[in-house]
Amino acid sequence: MPRNYDIAIVGGGFVGSTLACALAASTHRIALIERNPVSTKNSTGRDQDERNIALTCASKMIFEALGVWEQLDEYSVPIEKIHISDQGRFGAMRVDCRNHEADSLGYLVPAERLTQAIQSHMRHHKHVKRIQPYRVSNIQSHEDKVTLYGEGAPIEAKLLIAADGTHSFIRNALGIPVEKKPYCQTAIIGNIGVTDHHPYTAFVRFTEQGPLVLLPRVDNCYGFVWTLEDGVAQKHMALSEYEFLRQLQSAFGHRLGYFARLRKRFSYPLSLQVSQRLVQQRTVLVGNAAQTLHPVAAQGLNLALRDIAELCEILYASQDALDGVNDKLRVYESRRQPDIEGTVHLTDRLNYLFTTNNPVLARVRGVGLALLGAIPVLEQRIMQQSSGAFGSTARLLQGKALQTS
Ligand SMILES: Cc1cc2nc3c(=O)[nH]c(=O)nc-3n(C[C@H](O)[C@H](O)[C@H](O)COP(=O)(O)OP(=O)(O)OC[C@H]3O[C@@H](n4cnc5c(N)ncnc54)[C@H](O)[C@@H]3O)c2cc1C
Repeated sequence: MPRNYDIAIVGGGFVGSTLACALAASTHRIALIERNPVSTKNSTGRDQDERNIALTCASKMIFEALGVWEQLDEYSVPIEKIHISDQGRFGAMRVDCRNHEADSLGYLVPAERLTQAIQSHMRHHKHVKRIQPYRVSNIQSHEDKVTLYGEGAPIEAKLLIAADGTHSFIRNALGIPVEKKPYCQTAIIGNIGVTDHHPYTAFVRFTEQGPLVLLPRVDNCYGFVWTLEDGVAQKHMALSEYEFLRQLQSAFGHRLGYFARLRKRFSYPLSLQVSQRLVQQRTVLVGNAAQTLHPVAAQGLNLALRDIAELCEILYASQDALDGVNDKLRVYESRRQPDIEGTVHLTDRLNYLFTTNNPVLARVRGVGLALLGAIPVLEQRIMQQSSGAFGSTARLLQGKALQTS
């Protein structure tokens, strides 16, 4: 016998789980379906997630409105300044929240803590049925419902939300085309100790090998994300801890003193993937299933949280919000398109500028950085990106709790 729900969310990563929390206060019956068993591996499929996630002020407001932030507060670090420099070239740019009358440019939280906070929050919600482990391996769309098949009984829902990541089974099964751009780059991430501290300051350094970002943590360590060409990254992953730290130090310099205490390193292959449609017959794609971005601008989850805010606005509109759902999904798609296109474009161009070996562009980048400190317009763009509201009236983006009217 099939199990019946109003909404089935496939994928229990950051995006699917946050959506489940957001929809939990609605009158809809929700199923959250995840292929991995509870708490053995996180959504990255690894036992550990050592990443540090940069959240915009708008994303923080969403987590506050959902009641998730109170568990994150003690582990979060506000970013008040970003220091941007180019190895071997003159010029540095400083973005300071005080120049924009803002309290911060965003917040950093350890990925593991974010997962824990979302998961523990979800346990309080009786409306959300977690179906896990359950790998969706077939799907049938009908006029009035979608049926999912996996290892157990089929699952039926009036609306299917695909939050099943970059290689989305649902997107592929529905034949939704994807624009792919391999970057041939890998991000190496990890956490290190430093001897000099610059509180609440993040650093971006364009090194000869690729952009290196250092992010402050609450435990006085710094998280790093170093984007390298695939071959170089492979070699760096094979280095001893001592040698890797030496390379990292020489690329970054001594603005944070001496590096020490490297914990584990992890590598993430990078690509751009943009789904050509977000909606199809009672189904909507969100998060990495809809678009997977380069992490250079830390926008992937932030963009997905804005998707969640807008989608919830539609699904909370009324108790019968799922009637005529296809039309409502099309409205959702047209509302989200400009923000998604803008963010995809910005992230892709930034990565190109930051990693290009083209000597002219590289020189422009160096000169550009020297000039940029004096160009408020660019700072404005960074501030807009970090506030992340983009003119939307979605309640979650304004930090307001959701209720069905
Ligand atoms: C190095 C790095 C640093 C980053 N830093 C930032 C940052 O600072 N800020 C930011 O905003 N973003 C950042 N991002 C991007 C962010 O991590 C992603 O946007 C976000 O994690 C996407 O979450 P998701 O839930 O959509 O996908 P995923 O995390 O991939 O989750 C998908 C889930 O679906 C499940 N699943 C897949 N197939 C099935 C199936 N058939 N049946 C059932 N379940 C299934 C998987 O097991 C998984 O749990 C970063 C990314 C990287 C790689």
